[in-house]
Amino acid sequence: MNPDKVQERKEIVLRGIGASPGIAIGTAVILKKHGVVVEEKVAEPSQEMERLQKSIDRSAYELQKIYRTAVDKLGSEKAGIFEAQLLMISDPIFFSGVKKRIDGEKKNVEFIVSDEFSKQADQLRKSDNELFRQRAYEIEDVKNRILRNLTEAKLKSKFDGKSIVVTSDLTPADAVLLSRNEVLGYTSDFGGARSHASILSRSLGIPAVVGLKEITKHIEDGMKVVLDGYHGVVVINPSEETARKYEEKKKWCDQLDSELITEAGQPALTTDGRRVFVEANLELLEELPLLKSHGADGIGLFRTEPLIIDADSIPDEETQFQTFKKAVVEAAPDSVVFRTFDIGGDKLFIGDHDEPNPFLGWRGIRMMLDRPDMLKEQFRAILRASAFGKSKIMYPMVASIEEVVKANAILEESKASLDSEGIAFDRDIEVGVMIEIPSAALMSREIASHVKFLSIGTNDLTQYLLAVDRTNDLVANVFDEFHPSVIRTVKHIIDSGHDAGVKVAMCGEMAGNPLATVMLLGLGLDEFSGVVSTLPVLKKIIRATNYKSARKFARQLLKLDSSDDVKKALVEYLKTRFERIYHTTISEEYVE
Ligand code: PEP
Ligand code: MG
Repeated sequence: MNPDKVQERKEIVLRGIGASPGIAIGTAVILKKHGVVVEEKVAEPSQEMERLQKSIDRSAYELQKIYRTAVDKLGSEKAGIFEAQLLMISDPIFFSGVKKRIDGEKKNVEFIVSDEFSKQADQLRKSDNELFRQRAYEIEDVKNRILRNLTEAKLKSKFDGKSIVVTSDLTPADAVLLSRNEVLGYTSDFGGARSHASILSRSLGIPAVVGLKEITKHIEDGMKVVLDGYHGVVVINPSEETARKYEEKKKWCDQLDSELITEAGQPALTTDGRRVFVEANLELLEELPLLKSHGADGIGLFRTEPLIIDADSIPDEETQFQTFKKAVVEAAPDSVVFRTFDIGGDKLFIGDHDEPNPFLGWRGIRMMLDRPDMLKEQFRAILRASAFGKSKIMYPMVASIEEVVKANAILEESKASLDSEGIAFDRDIEVGVMIEIPSAALMSREIASHVKFLSIGTNDLTQYLLAVDRTNDLVANVFDEFHPSVIRTVKHIIDSGHDAGVKVAMCGEMAGNPLATVMLLGLGLDEFSGVVSTLPVLKKIIRATNYKSARKFARQLLKLDSSDDVKKALVEYLKTRFERIYHTTISEEYVE
């Protein structure tokens, strides 16, 4: 491509999802993956069987290679997804179905393989659950690998120079394989921040922006690209001024990141001596090694439902126990708050019921109380883990005191059953409740008298207070944690918890938003629990803040009657006191 021509082109700014933080400036390399066109043909079964076997052998060999690289770079826990792909590729039941069809229908293997895999993937894509939809990508990845090997098409996996990879959808295998090149960043049309590929990008330390919808349409090989993984922005053909701005920003960010990580081990103590706790929200065991390096004071929310998603079924007590034990051992001497399964809503469903209004349906603790055996089993797993490190139990989606009382009674039954078997557990294990439904927020004083702590779930609390579906793009602009009603409710919950003599934490996304930190501190929050990468920033802000001033500031914010005014005041505060943090971490939706 003629470089002058590239230079003449207009700057294009695209916005997607910041999947892995960091800034990268480099040259686009397009990774084309879907070149295999599958046609339906009549074919001789014995030949097709032979071709299928060859392709499977080759695909398994490639995946073994990727698996070994992943183990080296990421450790065996994270490399597990490639083990899962290897299992898919050697699943005897699936392939005996494929072979039967080849024999019976006398069609080409490409057509049958593609059809069978696509059926599975389509089924998962229809799910309301993001993690299931992500699994569909992995099935597609395995399908494409087998098809490529059938047609002997090669996937480009070696690049020259410093590249930013642009692709329709980044798979976990791409993320690992391409990291062996000098890849500076990843961008893709599809994908979410919670996909395995995004998680691996974060672990590999490669900035990524996903969900850009049409980046592959706008870009050509060799174009200059800027990628801002903090804010989910990609600039194609940046002007000289834009490129300079991002180069400068990259220098700041890298420096700030390393400074904040070095200080992250210090306690979250305000300048006038108020100690709060900054903890991690965790969904995957892979994130455990980041706890200490990012200064986490333990795990404030261990979401347990991903265990069901990973296993495709409800994991038994022993499996849950082994997982929980790993977490408590790694977090020691700090504690881990295990939240009982929060099934339903936008998460997974069990059984084959169909709910017209899942967010108002069979969710969280109400569902678990209808399945006491499942709850009992989970309690036993958590209690057994509590013998190995400090554990706490938390109930999600509580709407009334009766639910807390019933769950506590089942917990006592689990304790008694362990006692009768002579199995050790922490007798003083603390129980807490998530406050994320308006009725529970109003009753938080009474609820607090039945438990040892409260934890505010602002994701659902905002959804229910403002009557806005947290997953619906059309109303994303209405979903607003800074709405005065949310802030006043948060204040009410904190005060109610304190009146009852219990600590109040927050584990909704708001707790990890640096824009909210001073306000939450001033409202009296005791514990912040957010995604692990944000913890060093939160600690920095808290350590540089005077608690008395934060309280005064929070009182002023509570008087404001519009979210815009609240955000304006908070942006101004951060900009004047923490300019570097403001420029690097604050999402542009607040800045503009
Ligand atoms: C919340 O609702 O704020 C929360 C932390 O729970 P989840 O996002 O898992 O529903
Ligand atoms: Mg919730």
